[in-house]
Amino acid sequence: MTNKVQVVVIGGGATGTGILRDLALRGIDSLLVEQNDLATGTSGRFHGLLHSGARYVVKDLHSAEECIQENIILKEIAPDCIEDTGGMFIATKNDDLSYVNQWLEGCEKAGINTGEVSAQELLKEEPALTPDIVKAYYVPDAAVDGFTLAAANVLSANKAGAQVKTYTKVVGFKLEQNKVRGVYLQNKRTGKEELVGCDYVINAGGAWAGQIAALAGQNINISPDKGVLVIFNHRITNRVLNHLRPPGDGDIFVPHGSVTVFGTTSRLTSSPDDNEATRGEVLELLAEGSNLVPDLKEMRLIRAFAGVRPIYQPEGGEVGREATRDFTLIDHSRFTGLQGMVSVVGGKLTTFRLMAKVAVDMVAGRLGIDKPCITHLEKIYAPVPRNGAKPGEYLCQCEMVTKKMLDQAVLEKEQFSLSDVRRLTRLGMGPCQGTFCTFRAAGYYHESRGLKVKAANKLLKDHIEERWKGSKAVLWGQQAQEAQLTRGIYLGLLNLERLDSDRHDV
Ligand SMILES: Cc1cc2nc3c(=O)[nH]c(=O)nc-3n(C[C@H](O)[C@H](O)[C@H](O)COP(=O)(O)OP(=O)(O)OC[C@H]3O[C@@H](n4cnc5c(N)ncnc54)[C@H](O)[C@@H]3O)c2cc1C
Repeated sequence: MTNKVQVVVIGGGATGTGILRDLALRGIDSLLVEQNDLATGTSGRFHGLLHSGARYVVKDLHSAEECIQENIILKEIAPDCIEDTGGMFIATKNDDLSYVNQWLEGCEKAGINTGEVSAQELLKEEPALTPDIVKAYYVPDAAVDGFTLAAANVLSANKAGAQVKTYTKVVGFKLEQNKVRGVYLQNKRTGKEELVGCDYVINAGGAWAGQIAALAGQNINISPDKGVLVIFNHRITNRVLNHLRPPGDGDIFVPHGSVTVFGTTSRLTSSPDDNEATRGEVLELLAEGSNLVPDLKEMRLIRAFAGVRPIYQPEGGEVGREATRDFTLIDHSRFTGLQGMVSVVGGKLTTFRLMAKVAVDMVAGRLGIDKPCITHLEKIYAPVPRNGAKPGEYLCQCEMVTKKMLDQAVLEKEQFSLSDVRRLTRLGMGPCQGTFCTFRAAGYYHESRGLKVKAANKLLKDHIEERWKGSKAVLWGQQAQEAQLTRGIYLGLLNLERLDSDRHDV
């Protein structure tokens, strides 16, 4: 065995990175393994809403209470990851107004502050909204960036001594006498395998948690539930916009940086990897959203994508929107006698810190460590901070990314893609979707890191292909024109299709 730690955490989403940080701050020697980059699972494919809990108050009061408690803590400890936009719930003349009273009672019970605002007053501040508003309330929702959050958790954990291996997949478990002794890892870039020994494993594999548990002969029934989201090229509203009705499709708009994320749907799917949105799904969403924002269909869409909710389905439990958004900690020793493994499933990104606390409380207890959780007391910081710069210094103008930020994003990386850089900086996430910043970033790394032309071309090609995947389902109107421009630059001017040629290997 080459290496041994006390705890191995599987999964580099919000939950896994939150767990790693909690373990590290309690002085527990830990390693996190993630099969891709951080936050490339559901934590990077979600709506980006830091729930106030108001969405859940009628059907799931317990989840709502957890959300508001965590919302308050996270705004305090993670300001780099959160934009405190505030939120609003609006009911229109077509909605059932008896729901409004139930909702207000629920908010009161959960401890969520609401403030009523007249339609007239709200429309002055948020002119894109429908004039058919009958009731409107402010709530303490906010926007949260899942990529920055995962990276900030890891930065904090690293400082406290934890290790992380990305692009490393757990491919098996070493079991002895019904106890976990280690995990078999495969480096996805080199194919090399290694065994890391441990006393405990925490499975934070989200929608993949069932597949991971199966490697240890355990059964967890996850029903993968796909949600489609679309991105508009501007901020439609300044606050998070929610439809005041029982949770359904297409009823939340979240402003993020220079864009708006709108969605979502809820459909059972067969695989946690089902993350492509179709044109039909996008059109259904737009029809719903037009009830809140009448000009929605005229606005420019830049991207569509999907994420898969890790909904835990105990025997006979509900599925889809009816299923609880609460989380569950599974102690495998209680079900099959397997020692040394717990899985934490379900929940929401907003409650990741609480999920981590509950999991680490159990594991620390089993390891005989009695240090309490302190993750609510210490701040976390983005590894690539957004410092002010002069207008000429931006390499990505949509998202205001500078060369300095590009340097910081790859500081300790031997290998990287522009998608890895994007997750840390928002490069290419704005209205131009990488059209102008991809070649600039590839050129910059060619110079600053001494990349060979072939390697720089690969950065460029992979990023344009990745950005293209998300825009396929929304190619009409202004976005189709923009795609022609991107095509002209990359295929016409830069000859992208022939960039692999060997004569470029210099
Ligand atoms: C469409 C949609 C919208 C949502 N909107 C919101 C919202 O606005 N607010 C909110 O609070 N919540 C929201 N959620 C829920 C939230 O996104 C998830 O609950 C949360 O991101 C789950 O985080 P996680 O860390 O548990 O899972 P993930 O982020 O999926 O992390 C699991 C990780 O495990 C890795 N992994 C899998 N198998 C292996 C292996 N064998 N070895 C190593 N690594 C492995 C995966 O690559 C993945 O990165 C939404 C979910 C969806 C689908």
